Amino acid sequence: MKKEPILAKEAEASARSLNFSEVVKGYDEKDALSEASRCIQCKNPTCISGCPVGINIKKFIHEITDKDYKAAYFTIREKNDFPSICGRVCPAEYQCRKACVLTKKGSPFASKDAINIHFLERFVGDYGMSNKLEIPIKKDASLSKFKVAIVGSGPAGLCCAGELARRGVKVVIFESLHQSGGVLRYGIPPFRLPRNILDFEINYLKKLGVEVVTNFIAGRMKTLDELSQEYDSVFLGLGAGVPSFLGIKGETLGNVYSANEFLTRVNLMNAYKFPEYHTPVNIGKSVIVIGGGNTAMDAARAALRMQNINGISPNTSIVYRRTEVEMPARRLEIEHAKEEGVKFNFLIQPKEFTGGEKGFVRKLRCLKCELGLPDESGRRRPVVIEGSDFEIDCDIAILGIGLKANQVLTSVTPSLKTDKYSDVIVNPDNMETSVKGVFAGGDIVGGEGTVIEAMGMAKKASKGIIEYLSKIKK
Ligand SMILES: Cc1cc2nc3c(=O)[nH]c(=O)nc-3n(C[C@H](O)[C@H](O)[C@H](O)COP(=O)(O)OP(=O)(O)OC[C@H]3O[C@@H](n4cnc5c(N)ncnc54)[C@H](O)[C@@H]3O)c2cc1C
Repeated sequence: MKKEPILAKEAEASARSLNFSEVVKGYDEKDALSEASRCIQCKNPTCISGCPVGINIKKFIHEITDKDYKAAYFTIREKNDFPSICGRVCPAEYQCRKACVLTKKGSPFASKDAINIHFLERFVGDYGMSNKLEIPIKKDASLSKFKVAIVGSGPAGLCCAGELARRGVKVVIFESLHQSGGVLRYGIPPFRLPRNILDFEINYLKKLGVEVVTNFIAGRMKTLDELSQEYDSVFLGLGAGVPSFLGIKGETLGNVYSANEFLTRVNLMNAYKFPEYHTPVNIGKSVIVIGGGNTAMDAARAALRMQNINGISPNTSIVYRRTEVEMPARRLEIEHAKEEGVKFNFLIQPKEFTGGEKGFVRKLRCLKCELGLPDESGRRRPVVIEGSDFEIDCDIAILGIGLKANQVLTSVTPSLKTDKYSDVIVNPDNMETSVKGVFAGGDIVGGEGTVIEAMGMAKKASKGIIEYLSKIKK
């Protein structure tokens, strides 16, 4: 008899949209065993090729069915340093689950029947965390004389730091913000990734001897040359923290935010805990969020919660120029947003913001669209219908339409080669940049990606760094 997929338990939509507590509660042991038992243990497991870091998914699921959670944890950790984080945020429906043989051929994302690999990964990761399982440290005496500087404390920087510190290298992370974690802290809200999970991983690195220096802007406070002279090697995990704008009239009106600014104020500056934290954020009666990716979804769900917290009847809408099928956001996030009351307006192209006398946004003038032929992303292109102008009321507008490379360091380092998007160019074999001994990974290489992709690049870079260090005579 066909076994039905087991979904993770979730907080009820009307209750969870009143706060920033975690929405998905994950599996208990019974759920994990039932879901793992659905895996047919294929001879040629395609799911592994769908994982950007190649976790042996078949093996760890088998270990779950054997109730050997410790072995499952170590199997995952061979490839992925932060399973509790990835089990919560990986877009599995576009990666391992899409490649699962139970997904119907040709589907744009995983079928419902595909094994819920991400929930199983989270179960195992949380087991490892609560049982304080630590992967063996293979310190290499010959590496302990080396110091590596890591710029940026997002998943790329943190992963590279862990890989090097476990081998005995002295690591210092330099982070421009006052807290570490990158997008995991300032972008992804706590209702998706509770901060105790992130803190646990960062504290573990500190226990390994990694030093974290915050409020340090590399490129301003020290140049790359200076860091390269002080340290034996440097890793750049600068991310893609610069928001894109539409370039339309009225974009500079008050209360038009980039999603990054809005989320940073809410998550990093704790606006959702005002007045406990003295850093509120403006929130209005009609919020529109423009975009269809994870950033837009996070901004919309955070804005709706902020309306609830401030006693405003929730009215938050997504404005997107294609349809739901083309939205790049995680499917779960789209479902959650809908359940929580976020409205979706598809096939709409923003044209102009208009404001009131005091310079704050009041309306978004838009055009209707229809879908045309696919573009280079494979998604059908939105085609504007001329003369279809209409207006939407809004007193807060949030733009979540894409992110670009952070150029604070690269713009003052001409020796560091970048491409037309200002992303750092690396040798794909070892992630070394055009500057000898300087490596890079994550969103600063190849643009906006995913947490697991950033970690995959960082892991490869850490191997490149170790090889580089082992050739230095000291
Ligand atoms: C709102 C949002 C939601 C997302 N949701 C998901 C999701 O659900 N799943 C998923 O897989 N991916 C998601 N992503 C994408 C994912 O978070 C990124 O791909 C990932 O964080 C990239 O990691 P990184 O380490 O390269 O960069 P980042 O996480 O951006 O970290 C870079 C760090 O470098 C620091 N920095 C930059 N320049 C300097 C400098 N000159 N000196 C010192 N420090 C510097 C920055 O302050 C930052 O802390 C999301 C992204 C956003 C913005």
